[in-house]
Amino acid sequence: MKLWQDKLRKIDPYVPGEQSDAPGLVKLNANENPYPPSPRVQELLRGACAADFRRYPDANGSNLRRALAKHFGLGEDQVFMGNGSDDVLALCFQAFFASGQPILFPDITYSFYPVWCDLLRVPFERVPLQDDFRIDPRSFDRPNGGVIFPNPNAPTSLGEGPGFIEDILQHNQDCIVIVDEAYVDFGGVSSVPLLEKYGNLVVVQTMSKSRSLAGLRIGYALCAPELCAVLDAVKNSYNSYTMDMLALACGTASVEDDAYFRETCAKVVATRERAAKQLRGLGFTVLPSQTNFLFATHEKHAARAIFEALREKDIFIRYFNAPRIDNYLRITVGTEEEMDRLAAALQEVL
Ligand code: PMP
Repeated sequence: MKLWQDKLRKIDPYVPGEQSDAPGLVKLNANENPYPPSPRVQELLRGACAADFRRYPDANGSNLRRALAKHFGLGEDQVFMGNGSDDVLALCFQAFFASGQPILFPDITYSFYPVWCDLLRVPFERVPLQDDFRIDPRSFDRPNGGVIFPNPNAPTSLGEGPGFIEDILQHNQDCIVIVDEAYVDFGGVSSVPLLEKYGNLVVVQTMSKSRSLAGLRIGYALCAPELCAVLDAVKNSYNSYTMDMLALACGTASVEDDAYFRETCAKVVATRERAAKQLRGLGFTVLPSQTNFLFATHEKHAARAIFEALREKDIFIRYFNAPRIDNYLRITVGTEEEMDRLAAALQEVL
């Protein structure tokens, strides 16, 4: 053991869903969209000029910022963008969770939250979900350095309405409350309208799921100008450029094609409902999802065994070996054909 080895950072990182492009694979493990991005994005890429890459991108990402502000009916000074919502969330943790008091998030939630806390040395406490896996709004009623939860929550897929979120905001006015809306476009209710009333609310969204742009890494936070300014200051303290040129251009093209966006989300929702019915028919209990994935447990068969058997058949889903949910499976909604293949494979496996 060298002495310098003692000085290296030791940390357990977040582990994303396994990536693979093996032919024939049914990939339902990373909550990706099964449909391509807007044809406008494809058109833009066909016309893209590599020579432009010699220049730095617009540091403020003005076009995308303007498009997002217009889309949400907000001021441009209420939009903060970054390289995927993971980047935006990590910056939020640095910008808003600096009090030294523990921040609060559910015990079952996006597993990146505790990792950022460890990395950024933000103390945290996990508040338990209720037995039905719903968030208990009263669990946040205690002194804290901030609150964060996804709505709909992941991996439970359960969403709550605006009254529920406002209740949490009413009881947490002395800290920043972050609502992570990664999955909101698949039938959830957005908290964006609450921004008008609550200056301490931050809504974070992503183009990775509902806009089929996971590979381009585009995320954003919507909040009061005062909070955006803090996010900008933190970001500009280590990286001046919001996003790369291609991501900025493709993100703008996507936001400007609302019809395609709505159509794709509706298709995913319709397939989700059909797949949930198929799974229930096979003996699964499926939570009522407002996301692009299903969270399910089987009455007779262990989740891990099902996960492994499907893997053998080149069908990737997600299994979390974590307390309370280690007998559940998270299944991304794919195309109708992919979900039929899943159902057929499950029929054999079970
Ligand atoms: N929040 C939640 C709840 C998620 O599940 C994910 C996807 N892993 C993200 C944020 C981050 O998504 P992205 O960085 O692709 O925007």
